[in-house]
Amino acid sequence: MRTRFILLALPPLVLLLIAAVIVQLIAVRDEESVDRKASERLTLYRQTILGEYDKYRYLPYVLARDPRATIVLNMQQTTESANRYLEEMAENSGANLLYIMNTDGVTLGASNWRDELSLVGRNYGFRPYFKAAMAGEEGRFFAIGATMGEPGLFLSRPTPVKGPPRGVAVVKVDMRPLEQAWAEGGEIVFASDANGVIFLSSVSDWRYKVLHPLSDSLLSKIRETRQFAGLPLELLSDASGNADNVLAIDGRRYRHNQADVGLLGWKLHFLVPVEETKENLWPVWVSAIGLSLLYAVGVLVFRGRALRRASALLRQESEELRELNLRLTDEVEERKRIERELIKAQEGLARSSRLAAVGQMSAAVAHELNQPLAALRMFVAGTRKFLEKLNIEAARENLSEIDGLQHRMAALTQELKRFARPAESRIESIDLKENIRAAAKIALPRFEETGVDLTVTLPEEPLRLETAPLPVEQVLLNLLRNGADAASQVADGKVLLEAKRLEDAIVIEVSDNGAGVPEEIREKIFDPFFTTKLSSGGLGLGLSISGRIAEDIGGSLSVATNTFGGATFTLSLPAARDLRPRREDSSNKTSETKAQEVPAE
Ligand code: ADP
Repeated sequence: MRTRFILLALPPLVLLLIAAVIVQLIAVRDEESVDRKASERLTLYRQTILGEYDKYRYLPYVLARDPRATIVLNMQQTTESANRYLEEMAENSGANLLYIMNTDGVTLGASNWRDELSLVGRNYGFRPYFKAAMAGEEGRFFAIGATMGEPGLFLSRPTPVKGPPRGVAVVKVDMRPLEQAWAEGGEIVFASDANGVIFLSSVSDWRYKVLHPLSDSLLSKIRETRQFAGLPLELLSDASGNADNVLAIDGRRYRHNQADVGLLGWKLHFLVPVEETKENLWPVWVSAIGLSLLYAVGVLVFRGRALRRASALLRQESEELRELNLRLTDEVEERKRIERELIKAQEGLARSSRLAAVGQMSAAVAHELNQPLAALRMFVAGTRKFLEKLNIEAARENLSEIDGLQHRMAALTQELKRFARPAESRIESIDLKENIRAAAKIALPRFEETGVDLTVTLPEEPLRLETAPLPVEQVLLNLLRNGADAASQVADGKVLLEAKRLEDAIVIEVSDNGAGVPEEIREKIFDPFFTTKLSSGGLGLGLSISGRIAEDIGGSLSVATNTFGGATFTLSLPAARDLRPRREDSSNKTSETKAQEVPAE
């Protein structure tokens, strides 16, 4: 995200950087061009000053040599003829003032002799141009007129021009027209003297200001010569804002170029406002910023488009997801419907299979009941005979047999009932040994019938269980009968029942030496109605009911092949935990069965 932003921001940054470089280059170029132009202008302005000077330079010399002017020195007083001559000369030459001074500095003849403020009779001995001329030199001095307050360039010569001077001829040149011409040119130009005092300026406010502070001695010297008529000579620029080639004046900055005039240490200054030198820079900045803005707008438009595309894609995807969801919901609905139908079908199947089972069970029960009923008939007939013979003992024995048969038939009925309502049984604490004996007794006729030998091995300790006793007996009976059936198929058939307690379980193993359960049907024998004894009336319910009963009690029923090659069915049941094994009489054997009962090792 951050890198992306930097990448996006990079082009305008680079653009602005390039603009800055270009601006810098242009600024330098502009400054150079301004400086070039300034130097050209300065040469021109210098010419105007020098031209003015040259124009009047020889006039004092001419005057000094002209007796029509110097006559006043001979007379040591003013004369009208001299004054008229000076007046005429001034008019013709264009000079401001012409006058002749004696060695004391008193003016004896002057071109403005008619004026109220005539110079005649006034002493200007304090002026440097007078002193210079008296020293035999050419006097040149710019000053504000001591009498009329008008500024001008004073040019002087001693008279006579050679030898000790008798007086001084002076020409005052008015520089104001020149200054006026500068101002009209619209440029900023001014001239400063050797002390840095501005005496000519196209900006009139700057006149008589100084470029740098003057020392006190210099100030007092200037005051003495009354050069600037006692004006305060303030500083021109805000020195703090000055820089290289830059002058700050009244809050504005100017590019400053200067040149020597070549006269009296004068300097000419040419100023151009800094903002004007930077006019060329605006287009660069404007175009750079414009391009950056254009770029930003472009990026925004592009991003907007990309975002719109992405959101359209998202909308499409969510639409597809919604459709998928709908399809899934439909599918789930369909599955639920099928499941409901399946459950319904299963329920129907269970009901019908139960009905079929009941039907088959009734047939089996009828078959099972026929045997004891036949035996019952036999015993009743026998008893009757014994009673007739008054053999009471034999009759009693028969009666107990009848009682046993009656029990067996009741048990059979119970089996049918249990199949119809399997949960109907009362749970009690039992000693499984009792139930094993009971089951063995009920199974006994089958063993006798088939000639199979039954051996029951029980431990001495009671085998405590918390369960309904009849279902367990039912399971044991099933296993014993199946064992008898299987063992009856071999010559020396036998069945072993062994019960023992292992930790928390009671394990009963019923083994026979029959043919065993073939591998391929081992899984199936616990299914309801699976039987290999159809011909002999097998229902195929025994193991399925037994398995279910074992599971109901919390145990299990499984089958394996034993060492005789026969089957061993293992019934494992959870032992009652709260009762500790108690020692019991080991001689208590089920002698009424023909089975052999041996204690566990
Ligand atoms: P039924 O005895 O009525 O056939 P069962 O559910 O008790 O029904 O037994 C199912 C089948 O399991 C038997 O038909 C027989 O094939 C097989 N089976 C059961 N016990 C034994 C056994 N001890 N040895 C060999 N096969 C057995």
